Amino acid sequence: MPGRILILDDNMTRRITLAARLSGAFYDILVASSEGEAHAIIDKARPGVILVADELVCQPAVAFIRALRADPEHRSTTIFVLTAPGGQNGRADLLMAGADEVLPRSEPDEVFRARLRSHERSRERVRTLQMGGDEGQMPGLSEAAPQFQGKIAVTLMIPDADQAEAWRAAIGPVEGLQFALAREAELALPHATERSGLVLLGVLPGAEHRAFRMLAKRSAPPDGDEGELLILAPEADSATVIAGYEAGAGAVMTGPFDPAEIRARLIRLRDRLIRRRGLHQALKDGLIAAVTDPLTGLHNRRYALPQLARLSAQALVAGQDLAVLVLDLDHFKQVNDAHGHGVGDLALRSMAQTLQDNLRPGDLIARIGGEEFLVALPQTELAAARKIAARLCRAVRETPVLLPGPQQRLRLTVSVGLAMAPPTDRAPEDLIAAADKALYAAKGRGRDQVALLGCRRKPTRRDFAERVGTTPPAAPPTGTQMRFLI
Ligand code: GH3
Ligand code: MG
Ligand code: MG
Repeated sequence: MPGRILILDDNMTRRITLAARLSGAFYDILVASSEGEAHAIIDKARPGVILVADELVCQPAVAFIRALRADPEHRSTTIFVLTAPGGQNGRADLLMAGADEVLPRSEPDEVFRARLRSHERSRERVRTLQMGGDEGQMPGLSEAAPQFQGKIAVTLMIPDADQAEAWRAAIGPVEGLQFALAREAELALPHATERSGLVLLGVLPGAEHRAFRMLAKRSAPPDGDEGELLILAPEADSATVIAGYEAGAGAVMTGPFDPAEIRARLIRLRDRLIRRRGLHQALKDGLIAAVTDPLTGLHNRRYALPQLARLSAQALVAGQDLAVLVLDLDHFKQVNDAHGHGVGDLALRSMAQTLQDNLRPGDLIARIGGEEFLVALPQTELAAARKIAARLCRAVRETPVLLPGPQQRLRLTVSVGLAMAPPTDRAPEDLIAAADKALYAAKGRGRDQVALLGCRRKPTRRDFAERVGTTPPAAPPTGTQMRFLI
């Protein structure tokens, strides 16, 4: 993973030493000796990782980080603060200001890299959800403002029950978080993890394996997001810290137990999770929008074609009928010309509503063109399909569009082409083309009617009577006429 790392330190020796240490790790290293220089490099080179010295003379690291995080562009940048060996003071403040990690400069390389990899993975997850690469969110997908209902669960997994109680008491309450002790026997139950949340895993000397086993027993959360994991390993060696990151930790905290730092880390991980949930929602909304017609709320052509192919394949396998209807509003151009586009849009919405009101939930309804709609009726024989098509035609005719203004009503009619899917494999475009052909005939014969094409069974005498134009039996005087084309 070759990345670009900026080192900000006003001490030349420290700067050079760190750059030399990292140069073997395939990073592109940039260095800045002042905050001003750092900002210039950040704007130009956009490093993914910034390593800030804790002991800056020009400006406290806290202020530098806060300023950077205030810019939404640098929300996802990984920021580590490097401290003097044993430098514990102010870690919680640095984390709350936006630092992703605060670690002593003396930390072994392999531990440092494990921390870095964990943050890079997290950044990658955000990038994937944004679908936009380095430039942030894909246009059209707007990241929802972070908001969540209720509290996020923090499951404390600490093999020793007394220790768990003591830690919970010492940490105290944290806004937006609800602590619960994990019961080992229940970890694998599906309801144990209702939704992804935070896990605080205690890795105590001598009980390392037990802790990691507890983690492995967890059932997968139903929303597919593993949540965030904070590992508290006060006396851990390098191998344990690395194992913690390999187990998916967002942070492994070593050193003395510091409730303020734990709270700060939980808050950071909570915010990361909430952000991911927001992005996930935006992605889901975006996917729905991609297959939805914004004017009517119906499915669009992009959704309709593969769905029609699916219905056709299902009908073929099950040996069932599938009826396909294409409906086109009559003289719709005149509606726009006479009343304006706004009224035209209103009429299209009304048409969509009429279709929804008159069809079953399992039927496919889509707007596939300007004033053209597709309906597919699974498990529907010809006789039933004809009735439904006629019913739709009548419903449109009998449902005037209510216009703004006193007593204004607009009357619409629609022509319908009906085709039965043949008992052979057929592309959705062919099915639509067949219904379209019938539609063309319905238009040619005066509009406001149904025409039919493609019949699986032999035409009956009744069909023949309709074809030659004798009075269609049982048709109401003002009802929809049927035309039989083959
Ligand atoms: P026909 O009975 O033969 O179908 O005549 P028509 O006027 O309905 O057909 P034509 O294809 O001539 O015109 C379709 C009209 O539909 C023209 C176009 O402006 C209108 N239209 C297409 N999409 C929209 C839309 O989203 N909103 C509005 N208001 N009108 C639309
Ligand atoms: Mg039309
Ligand atoms: Mg049309």
